[in-house]
Amino acid sequence: MSKQKFKTEVSKLLDIVINSLYSEKYIFLRELISNASDACDKLRYYALTNPGIAKDNGEFKIVITPNAEENTLTISDNGIGMNKDDLINHLGTIAKSGTADFVRNAKDNGSVVDLIGKFGVGFYSAFMVAEKVEVTTKRAGETQAYKWVSNGVSGFEITEAEREKFGTDIKLYLKEDAKDYTDTIYLRHIIRTYSDHINYPIVLDLGKAGEENVNTGSALWTKNKAEITDDQYNEFYHHISRNFDTPWMRLHFKAEGSIEYTGLLYIPSEAPYDLFQPDRQQSLKLYVNRVFISDKVDDLMPAYLRFVKGIIDSADLPLNISREMLQQNALIAKIKNGTVGRILKELKKRSEDYDDYMKFWKTFGIAFKEGIYEDVNNREEVASLSRFYSTRDNDRLTSLDEYISHVQEGQTNIYYITGDDVPTLRNNPQLEAFKAKDIEVLLLVDPIDEFWVQVLNNYKGYPIKHVSQADIDLKINRDSTKADEKSLKKLTDFMAEMFKDEVSKVEPTEKLTNSPVSLTVENGQMSIHLERLMRNHQQQTTFASSRILEINPYHPLIIKLAESVNDKEQKQTVEEVCRLLLDQAKIAEGEAINDSSFFSEKLSDYILRGWQKSA
Ligand code: ADP
Repeated sequence: MSKQKFKTEVSKLLDIVINSLYSEKYIFLRELISNASDACDKLRYYALTNPGIAKDNGEFKIVITPNAEENTLTISDNGIGMNKDDLINHLGTIAKSGTADFVRNAKDNGSVVDLIGKFGVGFYSAFMVAEKVEVTTKRAGETQAYKWVSNGVSGFEITEAEREKFGTDIKLYLKEDAKDYTDTIYLRHIIRTYSDHINYPIVLDLGKAGEENVNTGSALWTKNKAEITDDQYNEFYHHISRNFDTPWMRLHFKAEGSIEYTGLLYIPSEAPYDLFQPDRQQSLKLYVNRVFISDKVDDLMPAYLRFVKGIIDSADLPLNISREMLQQNALIAKIKNGTVGRILKELKKRSEDYDDYMKFWKTFGIAFKEGIYEDVNNREEVASLSRFYSTRDNDRLTSLDEYISHVQEGQTNIYYITGDDVPTLRNNPQLEAFKAKDIEVLLLVDPIDEFWVQVLNNYKGYPIKHVSQADIDLKINRDSTKADEKSLKKLTDFMAEMFKDEVSKVEPTEKLTNSPVSLTVENGQMSIHLERLMRNHQQQTTFASSRILEINPYHPLIIKLAESVNDKEQKQTVEEVCRLLLDQAKIAEGEAINDSSFFSEKLSDYILRGWQKSA
């Protein structure tokens, strides 16, 4: 067969991997052993529904064969194997969406080791130590074997080949400077350090001296906690998650009762690149009595906890359960409820240390908050574990419980405001009365906030309300003069007519102190921020909440306008100032203004006039 080219991303990726000068080249072995172990998992599972298929394939194992004379190293498994299409799809293209991200990330921060695993491009790490890679493989259930050969630069070639059993041999023709990887002492050391937890025997082929079993090879989660070291726990995490950070949280438990299961779960310390991809798939692996079943059981973990990595193993599920049967299975639902409960409990414990908890919150908080919306059973618990910016403190995030502990006398609601970013929100005119009365307001800036505030009606008896829906008396004691009622009415009528296409109402308000105007919506309508979010996602075409322009009757500018609104000679000025005020209110809400050149021209104009007068 003629030579095939790698897909462009693969070439770029290989280029980065091969040319990255870093010392941890040995990770390639861990990657290839991980793949071999996955391949055995897959065949074991396949055999459950196709009995007899693997009966002549021998006990599952992974064999490592160094050859110092040839300067080669071969990693063999008797797992699922690959057919021609698999070879093209898995080793010639990277079908996964992560590849382009990988290339971009690697260019930006240069830490290839972390990224190789994260983006599922482990196989290619072989080219760090090999100048040529030969993959000989036969797919379970098929008769023809194939050989894939590549130097990692120009492309690959696939030819028909011979292989007796199902499985894969990956033969690396080592580079001159990678001779170490034929040294059995070194190999034994790397395997013990990084792959000890692998569920299958890893065998070192010592040639004439026979074979040696290198790893302990029992499923780590079945061992006693006391017998497992931190390093072993971490290596297992690296294996199952393909992450190379140190996990922020680890939870190893055995649940007993109506259904028994073991869980070994981790929360990473770094967010994966795909945390916010639309499919939001959970990533726990399900085992039945140590046999891998699937890592795509959606119902095993809610989407808002999709960043939790690890395994669940239960002997109470039937072994031959099909993946379809796993969806909406009552036992799975029980496991999920129990596991979520444990995770939330552990988070509660960890939340007592603010700085430590912030490491989690800043990484996964946005995803976690989806739970307030999604997890009907644990809504209040998820809310209590959530943290928010607020007006009470500039840096420190607050919890709802803390908020409640600071309510003012007579305050019966929890108040929030939503917007694009915290610094802009802090200056929103809507907050002025709250500041004057020392009432705390939560500053919510993540899109998901718009949704959970709609479903969490109250927290521990405190209704959750947008500042525009404040029903307590926000009247502030003032000694300043107020525009007189009659001219104020004329002004509001005038503005309402002038802006009839942009706002539904113009009303005086008691809520402002420093600002002359502010823009808000009617009670119960979609907030301006949410509307903007939807518009940005092309979710909204015709419907828009009607706006209310609130004016501050104590503000000198409003008083002046009210006095001048009937003065024919000042008509143009009154109109211009009104226009500037509405624009100002829109800007404070993060909204676009109709005519920005008018705004900037007039603004400079009025500033200059004021300046010349005072000079
Ligand atoms: P990942 O393992 O994260 O998916 P890799 O680049 O390491 O990414 O491997 C790509 C794919 O190639 C695997 O998903 C698998 O389908 C296939 N593959 C790799 N090694 C083997 C193997 N030893 N046996 C069978 N399939 C394999």
